[in-house]
Amino acid sequence: MLAIQNVSVDHGNLRALWDVSLDVNAGERVGLLGANGAGKSTLMGAIVGLYRTSGGTIQYSGTSLGRATTEDTVGLGIALVPEGRHLFPQMSVQENLDMGTYASSGGSSEEMMEKVFGLFPILKQKAKQNAGELSGGQQQMVAIGRALMSAPKMLLLDEPFIGVAPKVVDEILETLHGIAAGGVTMVLVEQNTHRALGFVERAYVLENGRTVLNGSADELLNDPDFSRKFLGLE
Ligand code: ATP
Repeated sequence: MLAIQNVSVDHGNLRALWDVSLDVNAGERVGLLGANGAGKSTLMGAIVGLYRTSGGTIQYSGTSLGRATTEDTVGLGIALVPEGRHLFPQMSVQENLDMGTYASSGGSSEEMMEKVFGLFPILKQKAKQNAGELSGGQQQMVAIGRALMSAPKMLLLDEPFIGVAPKVVDEILETLHGIAAGGVTMVLVEQNTHRALGFVERAYVLENGRTVLNGSADELLNDPDFSRKFLGLE
């Protein structure tokens, strides 16, 4: 579904990604792990057309995303839940969700919003409240809900659990499991390795802009190199 081959991305003079290759099959849950600054957000941004690639190719269901804009990628069925949520705090929950409406999503804005409310019932109760007044976890639900308004086939989640209480993290993960079971492909960027590997089937590890390891969640958990670096089991 998503085929990334030898992609490099520069931020001005700084090369953030070097020859990164990664594949995601339809229906999979794939993790992208790595420390701060490893390049995870840059890769998400390159997929959705926020950053231009300096080399390599990104193909999505056979379409090249090389020159695609963010709007093009939404139209193709890719939705990003950005790091830091990027909500409009002075606007209501409903208005924030509406921002994610996409004309060809297969449902009206009202229909899509009802679906989101079905997944996150608390948002229906808070629909008229300003997003800025919600708890961290509820704000994250709005950010995910906004992405779901375009009825994506692939959901990219960039560190969605920062500032979210552990109990709410579990709730959101359960909802994400349900969405994935409904056929939505997912890429989860996460710094909490245990949490990520509890959710995804496979993962790639980025280090200094390069993919250094990849494997199934089980393979990674049993890889001594991986454990030493990321699970603190030295
Ligand atoms: P984090 O968890 O901190 O978001 P990350 O793995 O997502 O880390 P990136 O945000 O992709 O990493 O950053 C990769 C490198 O690119 C870092 O050195 C970062 O400082 C740099 N960088 C990221 N975005 C920009 C930008 N818009 N302009 C300049 N440099 C950037």
